Amino acid sequence: MTQRKVRVRFAPSPTGPLHIGGVRTALYNYLFARQHNGDMILRIEDTDSQRFVPGAEQYIIDSLNWVGIRFDEGVSFGGQYGPYRQSERKEIYKKYVDQLLHDGLAYIAFDTPEELERKRGEIANFQYDASTRMQMRNSLVLPAEEVKQLMEEGHTYVVRIKIEPNEDIHVEDLIRGDVVINSSVLDDKVLYKSADGLPTYHLANIVDDHLMEVSHVIRGEEWLPSAPLHVLLYRYLGWADTMPQFAHLPLLLKPEGNGKLSKRDGDRLGFPVFPLEWQDPKSGDISSGYRESGYLPEAVVNFLALLGWNPRNDQEILSLEEMIRSFDLSHCSKSGAKFDYEKGKWFNHQYIQLKDNQALAELFVPVLKKHGVETGLSYVEKIVGLMKERVNFVEELWDQSSFFFVAPNRYDEKTVKKRWKPESASQLAELIEVLSGCEPFDVEQTEETMKSWIESKGYHLGNIMNAVRLALVGAPKGPHIFTITEALGKQETISRLRKAIDLLQ
Ligand code: GLU
Repeated sequence: MTQRKVRVRFAPSPTGPLHIGGVRTALYNYLFARQHNGDMILRIEDTDSQRFVPGAEQYIIDSLNWVGIRFDEGVSFGGQYGPYRQSERKEIYKKYVDQLLHDGLAYIAFDTPEELERKRGEIANFQYDASTRMQMRNSLVLPAEEVKQLMEEGHTYVVRIKIEPNEDIHVEDLIRGDVVINSSVLDDKVLYKSADGLPTYHLANIVDDHLMEVSHVIRGEEWLPSAPLHVLLYRYLGWADTMPQFAHLPLLLKPEGNGKLSKRDGDRLGFPVFPLEWQDPKSGDISSGYRESGYLPEAVVNFLALLGWNPRNDQEILSLEEMIRSFDLSHCSKSGAKFDYEKGKWFNHQYIQLKDNQALAELFVPVLKKHGVETGLSYVEKIVGLMKERVNFVEELWDQSSFFFVAPNRYDEKTVKKRWKPESASQLAELIEVLSGCEPFDVEQTEETMKSWIESKGYHLGNIMNAVRLALVGAPKGPHIFTITEALGKQETISRLRKAIDLLQ
């Protein structure tokens, strides 16, 4: 058998912002495509005009671009199999609707919403299927003449698939194995609506996967219940031989593990469930995004990659290249993956450590600006290098390191009470004299100068150090004192000591 070229697609519906689970689906498709030198397609499934949300398509594109998922074809990328927006493929689908009708594998139904409602009232657990379809108003029941007339008179109708009951339908899933569902539980789903001349999701999805020569359908578990219908559609349309292989990814679960992760969990527990910030065009409500919350895209990718898959060793930090090399659908878990947000923060911490100081400094500059600080990049780079170990997010660098950029103008009261001794002012005044002659003003020399001065005077080392820290930082925090003095430089160090003497004595 000749191997088929790997072609996968990410096929979101623009019904709102892309959920972080959708980003994971796109990522797994991407890893799979890259690993097999295949093609990655972005298809926009917008046949449900009722649920269309303006701005959602652009949001999807921007989100995937931010995390670094690249497409070979699709909406905004072009390609040989376009158009890639389903609303622009109307004519293409009509042909297959007609084919199914002609072959007797689908039928026309005129039931109005009210009629369907009434039936639901009459029959408990009503389902439009083999057991009920002969009681309804459709082309299986009505004389051909009447059907023709109703259509000519412009009555709206839908086309439904005709599913034969009592057949075991097999979905071969690369993650779940052979999934068997009996056709009797399926209903005669609507494939096409005359009202807008558009197919529904099911038909458009299958026709496009076929025409776009998709080899693997990798998507969320929520689509597994649709898969038997899709298998049938491939058969009905005569495409069973080239049906793509399915892989239904595990659900993302709430951090507690019970139930599907939702936007409300994010609100409740204070973490984003969307890649980028999103403003709802109707309500104006803003939902937070990973980007705006200070995540590095590499960290998000790494975090998501391991929600449902792992490389079968203990390695947690993986570059994109490593993921592409070791990704394996058959190693994806069947059961849901708990969304451990704390782990997400841990990943961000790790990626901040891995990032070089210059790149990190560039990310920190806008934060500094926001606080009114403008200073040379090389100084920022140095401070970032000293402090990054302490933070999970770039923003947090400000809390940790603001004293490197602005002198304290108030001093932590409790510390003053405890650490500023009656003799502190005169001792620091002496220290200023001592430090004035200290050259070079680096960690080693300053430490040596200060310690030998303390020793020769018989002062208390701890008391001096505490007072100096209070003068330089304003609070009992920060790295090693001599690391601070070196970064600040002689002039600034002395000026801060002077200021503390003035204000605290
Ligand atoms: N349009 C569907 C979605 O929004 C696509 C499901 C699939 O990949 O088949 O997720």
